[in-house]
Amino acid sequence: MTPSPEFDAVVVGAGVAGLFCAASLADAGVKVAVLEARADAGGRARSWHDATMGLEVDIGPHVLSSEHRQFVRMLRRLGTADQVQWQREPQVTLLDAGELLAVRNVRWTPPLHGLPNLPVALRRIGWRDAVSHWRVAWHAARANEESLRALDGIAALHWLRSLGVTTRAIDWFWRSALLALLNVPLEHCSAAAAMRVFRLMLGRSGYHFGFPTTGLSRLYVPACVGLVRERGSAFFTRSAVRNLEIENDRVAGVRLRDGKVLRAPWCVLALPPWNLAPLLARTRSARLAGLAEAASRFLGAPYTSTVLALDRRVGELRFRARVWNPADFNTDFYDLANIRPELAGGGSVIACNAIGPHARLAWSDREVVARTMAELADCTPAARDARVLRACVHRIRAAIPQPRPGTETLRPPTRTGLQGLLLAGDWIATAVPCSMESAARSAALAAGAILGRELVLPPPESYGFVGLLRKRA
Ligand SMILES: Cc1cc2nc3c(=O)[nH]c(=O)nc-3n(C[C@H](O)[C@H](O)[C@H](O)COP(=O)(O)OP(=O)(O)OC[C@H]3O[C@@H](n4cnc5c(N)ncnc54)[C@H](O)[C@@H]3O)c2cc1C
Repeated sequence: MTPSPEFDAVVVGAGVAGLFCAASLADAGVKVAVLEARADAGGRARSWHDATMGLEVDIGPHVLSSEHRQFVRMLRRLGTADQVQWQREPQVTLLDAGELLAVRNVRWTPPLHGLPNLPVALRRIGWRDAVSHWRVAWHAARANEESLRALDGIAALHWLRSLGVTTRAIDWFWRSALLALLNVPLEHCSAAAAMRVFRLMLGRSGYHFGFPTTGLSRLYVPACVGLVRERGSAFFTRSAVRNLEIENDRVAGVRLRDGKVLRAPWCVLALPPWNLAPLLARTRSARLAGLAEAASRFLGAPYTSTVLALDRRVGELRFRARVWNPADFNTDFYDLANIRPELAGGGSVIACNAIGPHARLAWSDREVVARTMAELADCTPAARDARVLRACVHRIRAAIPQPRPGTETLRPPTRTGLQGLLLAGDWIATAVPCSMESAARSAALAAGAILGRELVLPPPESYGFVGLLRKRA
């Protein structure tokens, strides 16, 4: 297909950010063209049919939380919100030294919602370790966006130690939570990014996780593409953009790798930083040099995601997460047979993630599968005699941009220095960590900027006693 030059806006990249942005624009009657480099859409949140496994596999298991408000709002618009199975109790099942611990998140006034978990915490860490958090909690309760950004140059580990958090509390709580949520070890994590997560854990209650009951792409790709095409807009795959076309100091369109030019007065670059930086470098605009330099400073966090089809059912749990241990490989385990209705009749289908420094990308498939089965058997007695029928291993070099010290303040706003050029993507300044929710918020910001309307929900804020402290501060 030859892209036509008659579009109001071009959206580059068909991940969550690009597709949500294009769908919102098409919904509002804007004629939009979506350009995706790969043969399929979905980016880092995609799934595909794997013939060997005989099922739709995700790039790696993804969870939603009830705090994915913008993302879920879009699923409602697309008519797929019922394809998420929410789990209210327990919030998480933690695996710690061979024991399963149920963590709750009751809808009590923050920070009182932490109380039901105190006995669990005290069984694993002492009073002194638990109480050593009081200064961090005090700072987090009073933090706002500005004070949070002031911590960006400091590593989270240094910040926690300087506030008196004990090594045991750091290893048990912080390393586990931040590896799962931010995908970097504390030594390499911005204290601002860590604080952003902690202040919301402390200041909001009742949040819980949800699991797609279908392949990840099915949640949003067909519905977004359908919506775009229905409204006279266009969606092109295998259409990698090489550079921007600039005329009279504003964006005039994009040039594809095959030399074709697509003209439009608006252009949304919904790309991760590692794809944006080379595209901007090829554009050679002095106005975009700062943005290109900022984008080049982000590194991706690696993942190894494994799917194992077993010859039997090994339990009833949907999801469990492990307390951090430097020797471990996988961080979180899911049993898709307990999540996807179409897999309910057969053996367990285990999906898991090994994150960041744990990803061990050089391991062979055989090593990955053997180690994953050993870890599963460790915590699931029924898995000890189970046989692996089929397996697949995905090595992902860049799952999300690592929130290293200095990067929180580098996250760029939607509008760039060039008229008509907007950014979207999980890594831009959305006030939430890089995730599908951040990608959804970035899409609403970009579409809102073109339509001249507020489409983005207010950023999540603390409430209850924590909210009062913040307001007084
Ligand atoms: C294994 C794994 C587990 C994860 N777990 C979770 C989770 O549990 N919860 C959660 O919320 N998030 C999770 N994430 C993160 C989430 O997937 C991402 O934050 C989100 O998908 C990013 O979407 P995006 O649209 O910003 O970027 P992308 O998905 O990267 O989309 C960008 C698109 O642009 C395309 N592209 C690149 N260059 C060009 C070019 N020059 N021209 C045209 N197209 C181009 C790419 O092919 C891609 O399709 C996980 C990610 C991975 C990989």
